[in-house]
Amino acid sequence: MTERRRDLLVVGGGPVGLAAAIEGRLAGLSVFLIEPRTGPVDKACGEGLMPGTVSALRNLGVCIQGAPFRGIRYVAPSGTIAATHYFFSGVGMGVRRTALHAALAERAAAVGVVRKCGRVVGIATHEGAASVRVILDDGSAVEGGWVLGCDGLHSVVRRETGLARGSDGRRFGIRRHAAATPWSDVVEVHWSARGEAYVTPISATEVGIAVLGPRGWSFDEALGTFPALARRLADVDWTTSARGAGPLQQKVSSPVRGRVLLVGDAAGYVDALTGEGLRIGLACAQAAVRCVASGRPEDYPPDWRSLTRDYRWLTSGLVTATRVPLARRLLVPVAARLPRVFGAAVERLAR
Ligand SMILES: Cc1cc2nc3c(=O)[nH]c(=O)nc-3n(C[C@H](O)[C@H](O)[C@H](O)COP(=O)(O)OP(=O)(O)OC[C@H]3O[C@@H](n4cnc5c(N)ncnc54)[C@H](O)[C@@H]3O)c2cc1C
Repeated sequence: MTERRRDLLVVGGGPVGLAAAIEGRLAGLSVFLIEPRTGPVDKACGEGLMPGTVSALRNLGVCIQGAPFRGIRYVAPSGTIAATHYFFSGVGMGVRRTALHAALAERAAAVGVVRKCGRVVGIATHEGAASVRVILDDGSAVEGGWVLGCDGLHSVVRRETGLARGSDGRRFGIRRHAAATPWSDVVEVHWSARGEAYVTPISATEVGIAVLGPRGWSFDEALGTFPALARRLADVDWTTSARGAGPLQQKVSSPVRGRVLLVGDAAGYVDALTGEGLRIGLACAQAAVRCVASGRPEDYPPDWRSLTRDYRWLTSGLVTATRVPLARRLLVPVAARLPRVFGAAVERLAR
């Protein structure tokens, strides 16, 4: 069965897909969103919304609730050396993914986004045609003027359009939550010899812990490499089980092919090290909708490059540099001694 044609098909109802769908409706397009999971969707994430993400959500009319944080702190494994930057550009917010999803879904329903439960398994495009067909796992098809592939790290849309360029497969992420009163008003990033741990305040009684590191690391093994953090968490009750994601790096040849545009993690990912996947995903969702609404998909690659440039350069530079053990050991002491450089880097990624 083929559904009636819509202006815009959004594949993937994660935060970026939902934001893109809302943007589409606000631009006057008819929007169909396809997502296989029902209910508030969870995902491994540090759950720290940078100030730019908080204001982008506000501009979309999305009401979020969580715990505010005022900056970013890099902490050495011993816990004694730290570099802290308090944002000039506003306040960040720690928000559980399920709460973020519920808030976006509520807004999407309110502005008239039509949702279908299903998994996209194929895309049929024809050179010069004014529409694209998306094939679902139940054998049905949906036709739209444009497709936004917002289906995350392992995007089927990216694969089906031939835009995927693989991954180095090195780094993965895992998250858990602990019942604990946040002990800081910043997001702490603890550095060890093998990876990083993020501590994000989520509410007055809960913190999120996300670890990034090599393939095969378990959450407990990772936590053991951050002695100061492990001591602090020794007696907590864990409120969620470990949830992982990866490999993090995903390369693309281009974020657009014909009438299909990739947005969010689907459009390629460097690493979660600098914690601003959501900020960039929301900014690119807005740009992608602007391009399809004006019928100018050719504008999207330069827009995407410009919106993701700082993230791609800073994050890949940091990931590459900290593969060298000495650079990894020196990172926090150097950041503590060069507060302006550290602050400028954080500020670039926070806006
Ligand atoms: C450990 C870790 C920590 C992170 N910490 C932060 C942080 O603190 N702050 C931050 O801003 N970012 C962080 N990020 C990045 C952030 O989580 C992502 O950038 C963000 O989730 C991207 O959203 P998305 O909607 O593009 O993809 P996703 O959130 O992955 O959503 C994709 C959606 O597509 C659906 N889907 C998948 N396949 C199909 C299909 N075939 N058909 C239809 N639907 C499909 C999925 O069910 C899912 O709902 C972190 C990432 C990791 C891994």
